[in-house]
Amino acid sequence: MEYPFGAVNERLDGTFSVTPRMPFGRLDAEALEAVADIVRRFGLPGVQASTAQRISIEGIPAGSVDEIVTMLNGVGNRCPQSITACRGRVGCKRGMQDTQAMARKVEEVLMGFSQMPAHLKVGLSGCPRCCGASYVRDIGLVGTPGGWTLVFGGNAGRKVRGGDEILVNSLQDHTLATLKTALSFYREKAKKGERTARFAERLGVDAIKKMSLRDKGLRRGIKFK
Ligand code: SF4
Repeated sequence: MEYPFGAVNERLDGTFSVTPRMPFGRLDAEALEAVADIVRRFGLPGVQASTAQRISIEGIPAGSVDEIVTMLNGVGNRCPQSITACRGRVGCKRGMQDTQAMARKVEEVLMGFSQMPAHLKVGLSGCPRCCGASYVRDIGLVGTPGGWTLVFGGNAGRKVRGGDEILVNSLQDHTLATLKTALSFYREKAKKGERTARFAERLGVDAIKKMSLRDKGLRRGIKFK
């Protein structure tokens, strides 16, 4: 039997969990009520928060998965890549930039990059305190007084790597344009399954910087906003 996108089979007891769509860690009142209503109506144990700023409704019997997915009216992330963001300037007194607005723009960029060599994790932080763990994500963005610092090639896995700064204190449009170029370069040159950290180690950060910032050939055909 095939289950809808967003439904995951729990390994231990055979029940399922379903993750509502919650972009960059946010759920509005309507979605919160829908989740609470589902938990009560189906007598479920509750929800579990994940490290990726999402919640999963747990303990769903197989026969109820379809109905619950329909009730939620939107499960899973719109973007296949993982994007997390701290509260940024809108919700944190230390924030220098609006991480939530920037996260939506980054999501738009990533939606244009299907079939990447490997999964991408993106972390946005509104200031250099980096609550969004931006330096240990494939792509990191850090708010600065004048814009954004763009980080490439971080990883928080077993072989930890701090990402490299490709741009520092750069305006939003230039940051997004450079991100597109860096992703194009990565998609073109990386081996299948090669995460950005290993890619950056293999090619060297100077090559990535050079291509991201200067290569007109890669920029050709990319529509910059
Ligand atoms: S990174 Fe900065 S803006 Fe974001 S939550 Fe932490 S202190 Fe606040």
